[in-house]
Amino acid sequence: MPAAALAALIRERQPCVVLTGAGVSTESGIPDFRSPDGIWAEVDPFEVASIQAFRRDPVRVWGFYRKRIHVVRDAEPNAAHRALAELEARGFVDAIVTQNVDALHSRAGSPDVVEVHGSIRSAQCLGCLWSQSAESALAQLDLDDVPSCRRCGEVLKPGVVLFGEMLPAAQMERATQLARSARLLLVVGSSLEVWPAAGLPLEAQSFAIVNRGPTALDDKAVLKIDAGAGETLSAVLAGLT
Ligand SMILES: [Zn+2]
Repeated sequence: MPAAALAALIRERQPCVVLTGAGVSTESGIPDFRSPDGIWAEVDPFEVASIQAFRRDPVRVWGFYRKRIHVVRDAEPNAAHRALAELEARGFVDAIVTQNVDALHSRAGSPDVVEVHGSIRSAQCLGCLWSQSAESALAQLDLDDVPSCRRCGEVLKPGVVLFGEMLPAAQMERATQLARSARLLLVVGSSLEVWPAAGLPLEAQSFAIVNRGPTALDDKAVLKIDAGAGETLSAVLAGLT
């Protein structure tokens, strides 16, 4: 039973830190990016989700993110988010580092979530760096092509890290520290293709992977489970009680 093996690893190799990617949210109805029917099979990320595209054509980039914000707002945390929150509450997981921008870990009750790719719940001004809620940006989008900063009038950018942008330094530093402190880093729902987050497992003493399909680091993992996040983590949780 692979889930029982993972439960044993989590029990033995404390502290354990979790790294999640898009595969943890697909069961909530949020499409991932890189699978054959993922978002990037439909649109070119450099046309709709890069900082260069945003500077060239913010209307098009906001058109893409407007739909994404609605999808994320209507989604609910799934069994994987809830199992991870429960593992955290029981002291088996120290913190969750996530590549996701959907805030579903926090909504499932996880107290310590490090969002290394930003959050779709906010919008940020590139002029004065003021942040405001995605809701107020959406309200502006009903009236105008792009939302603008209430303070300085500059165009607002979605609060997510776009391609070509640096990751937020404080969050990435905390994520790296957490990974280095971990005897086990548990990767869930990430194909480990997007750096630098994909390098975090190599900072930990050991790592295990739960992901549908291959990842870039399968051959270095102590355990790889090729299965859905919800069913696997629910079984792991049951194995730890
Ligand atoms: Zn501003």
